[in-house]
Amino acid sequence: MNQINITEIDVGGPETESLVLEALRSGRLASGPLVERLEDGFAAYIGVDHVIAVNNGTTALVAAIEASGIGPGDEVITSPFTFVATVNAILEAGAVARFADIGDDFNLDPAKVESLIGPATKAIMPVHLYGQCADMAPFMALAAEHGLAVIEDAAQAHGATYRGACAGTFGVGCFSLYATKNMTTGEGGFVTTNDADLADRVRVLRNQGMRARYQYEVAGHNWRLTDIQAAIGIPQLATLDDKVAARRSNAAYLTNGLAGIDGLQTPVVMESRGHVWHQYTVRVDPASGVTRDDLAERLTEHKVGSGIYYPKVVYDYDCYRGNPSVIPGAVPNAFAAAEQVLSLPVHPNLDADDLDRVISSVRSTFD
Ligand SMILES: *Cc1c(COP(=O)(O)O)cnc(C)c1O
Repeated sequence: MNQINITEIDVGGPETESLVLEALRSGRLASGPLVERLEDGFAAYIGVDHVIAVNNGTTALVAAIEASGIGPGDEVITSPFTFVATVNAILEAGAVARFADIGDDFNLDPAKVESLIGPATKAIMPVHLYGQCADMAPFMALAAEHGLAVIEDAAQAHGATYRGACAGTFGVGCFSLYATKNMTTGEGGFVTTNDADLADRVRVLRNQGMRARYQYEVAGHNWRLTDIQAAIGIPQLATLDDKVAARRSNAAYLTNGLAGIDGLQTPVVMESRGHVWHQYTVRVDPASGVTRDDLAERLTEHKVGSGIYYPKVVYDYDCYRGNPSVIPGAVPNAFAAAEQVLSLPVHPNLDADDLDRVISSVRSTFD
């Protein structure tokens, strides 16, 4: 029986190998024309005016915050149910993180955000968790009403749509190109925006605050991506649609096969969202007598990989307790989700036998 992995990393084929070799032979190992080609390609892919490639997704978030003029004393409202980078980026930028609860889609709930907005609030940062867009229309309305920036943590949502528009085209988009994400350069990230001035600030900050050679405008950073990394990413722009289609078809197969199990909730896809299924995440109702950990254990016995994203509310760690820049919220839905979620394999390399084994293993746990 083969092991079915929760993720498989696709490093591309001969086209990727020849582009990486071309980068090596060009002698341009740092940032150069291939980074620009990758930026232009992603801009066209999601339909945004400006894409700035950076060295990872966490940097993209820090860059978006800093370029939005947000820093010490300013507050950012975000999701308590996310990868730790979301919070670490807010802290790295010197700002304060506040948390509103999540909804059935596991994303920040706009209805819970409004009451947290105060004079120090400068941005709302929804996370498009697992590849499904947060409910952007109410966030954009709230932001317009209160004069706030919207920073999208789209690290898991390359090509995900909301009412036909891609993640990363609403506010300032922040993408990750980490090895396990739907699109990868090993390590890497994008900032995306339709605001030319903001794009300009990110470009200057990315390169030591330098506009022209030795003309420093601000104290900047080294946030640059390399051409070798870009060479890994460029060919994926052409294959991303097919891979997302495979993820969608796998997700539909799983949802069909897992229907009607008492105590198991399959993922909720909200109206007008194009989910890209970075993760396929079920919920186990503890009242069913089966726990999330029971399910994970049974899957392991059947050589089916699974993952807990995420086992705790993001700030519920000793390293954040007592930190005046991390303000816990009333977030019962996030605490419940952290105890109940389990992600099942949905990646494009699964075949029908694999999917059937995932389904039968899950079903056997509840029999
Ligand atoms: C991966 C991820 C990040 C960080 O991206 P890196 O490229 O690993 O720095 C941020 N937010 C979320 C939700 C992520 O999944």
